[in-house]
Amino acid sequence: MSHRILIVEDSAPLQTVIIEFLQSKGHVCQCVPDARAAMKLMGQDVYDLILTDVRLPGEADGFAVVEFANQHQPEAIKVVMSGYGRLDDIVRAIRLGAYDFVRKPLPSLAELGVIVERALEHKNLLRERKRAQEEIERMNVELSRANDRLAEEVERRTADLAKANRELRTLDEMKNNLLASVSHELRTPLVSVRGYTELFYSGRLCPIPEKYQKYLETCLRNIDRLLSLIDSLMQYAQTFNQRPPLRLELIDLRQIFAALIQKLSEAARSAEVSLELLEKGHPVLVHGDARLIEQSFQHILDNAIKFNRPGGRVWVEFEPVGRKLVKISVGDNGIGIPLEEQGRIFERFYQVDRGPTRQYGGTGIGLAIARDNLRLLGSELRVTSELGKGSVFYLTMPLAEDAPPTVPPGPEK
Ligand code: ADP
Repeated sequence: MSHRILIVEDSAPLQTVIIEFLQSKGHVCQCVPDARAAMKLMGQDVYDLILTDVRLPGEADGFAVVEFANQHQPEAIKVVMSGYGRLDDIVRAIRLGAYDFVRKPLPSLAELGVIVERALEHKNLLRERKRAQEEIERMNVELSRANDRLAEEVERRTADLAKANRELRTLDEMKNNLLASVSHELRTPLVSVRGYTELFYSGRLCPIPEKYQKYLETCLRNIDRLLSLIDSLMQYAQTFNQRPPLRLELIDLRQIFAALIQKLSEAARSAEVSLELLEKGHPVLVHGDARLIEQSFQHILDNAIKFNRPGGRVWVEFEPVGRKLVKISVGDNGIGIPLEEQGRIFERFYQVDRGPTRQYGGTGIGLAIARDNLRLLGSELRVTSELGKGSVFYLTMPLAEDAPPTVPPGPEK
C-alpha cells in the first residue's frame, strides 16, 4: 500500500538513498533539508509518516519538527534518525511523541525498511482503531436514541393502560351497581307475587280444585327459580362490589349442611336425585362466616342436583386431614365435567354447555361466587370430575382449635 512520507534530512547523498529506497517500496516521498521547510510543507499537505533527522541546520531541530507535526499532522506517525551514541536524543524524541528511531549512520536499508513498514503498520492499526471507536460511538448514539424512543413508548402505553384500567373499573362499578339495584327492584315485586300465589295455593282464600293446584305448584317452583337467580345476581354484585364485612364465629358445619340439605330437598325430590349427609354423628366446628359458607355450598349443591340424572345421588362428606384440618366434599354421580373445562368453570359466567340448545338453567356465576367467598375464608375450592360419571367439589378448612375433637382424628400431618 502506498503512503505519503516526508523526509527531513540535510545530507544530500543520504536523502537520495532514502528516497530511492522508499519509492522502490511504492511510497510517495518528499524531502526537505531543514525544519523550517518541513513545517511549510506540513502546512500544505497531509503525510502518513514524517521521518526526520534530529540534528538539522538552522534554529529548529528534529524535536521542533516532531512537536510541529504533533499539532499540524496529528494523524502522521513520526520516526526520528539519530546518531547511535545519542540515546538521550532518542528518549527525548519518543517522549515528545515519536513512534520509533533509525540509527545513524544507517546500518542497512533493510533495517530502515523494517522500521518504516512497522511504523506505517502501526499507523494503519491506529486508523482502524479510530474507525472502530467512531463506529462504536455512532452505534451508542443510535442505541441511546432507540432507548429514549422505547422509554417514551413504554411511558405512553403505560399511561394508556392506566387510563383504560380506570375506565374499566368505573364501568365495572357502574355495572355492579346497576345489577344490584335492578336485582333488588325485581326481587321485591317477585316476593309479593310469591306470597299471594302461596296464599291461593294454601286454600285459605277459596278452595282450589286439585287440577289448579298443580298449576300453582308450577308457578311457585318457577318463582323460586327466578328468586334464586336474582339472589345469585345480587350476591355477584356484592361479591365484586360492596361486600359486607366478614363475620367470623364458631360454627358447626354439620348443622349448616343439614339445614342446606333440608332447604334443597324439594329441588332434589323434583329432580329425582337423592341428597344425603354422610356420617351424621359429630359436630364439625370451624371458625368461619356462616352466611358465606352457606351461600357457597348452596351453589355447589344446586349444581350437583341440577347437573344430574333421575335416580342420581348427591352426598356431603367430612373427612379429617391430620388433627387440624377437615376436608369437606360435595360429590355427585351426575353428568361430570370434561377435563379441559375443569379449570374454567370457576370463571365468571363460564358454562360448559353454552349453546342455544342448553338444557340446564343458571347464570354461570355460582362457582365464581363460591370460590371467591371461600378464598376470603382462606380455603381453595377444587374439583375432580369424570365425564359421564360425576364430580366431587372439595376443600379443606382448619378445625377450630379451642373446640373439642369433632370428626374422628386422622394421622398427624
Ligand atoms: P351455573 O349457573 O351455570 O350453574 P356455575 O358457576 O355454578 O354456573 O357453574 C359453572 C358451570 O360449571 C356450569 O354451567 C356447568 O357447566 C359446570 N358445573 C358446575 N357444577 C357441576 C357439576 N356438579 N356437574 C357438572 N357440571 C358442573
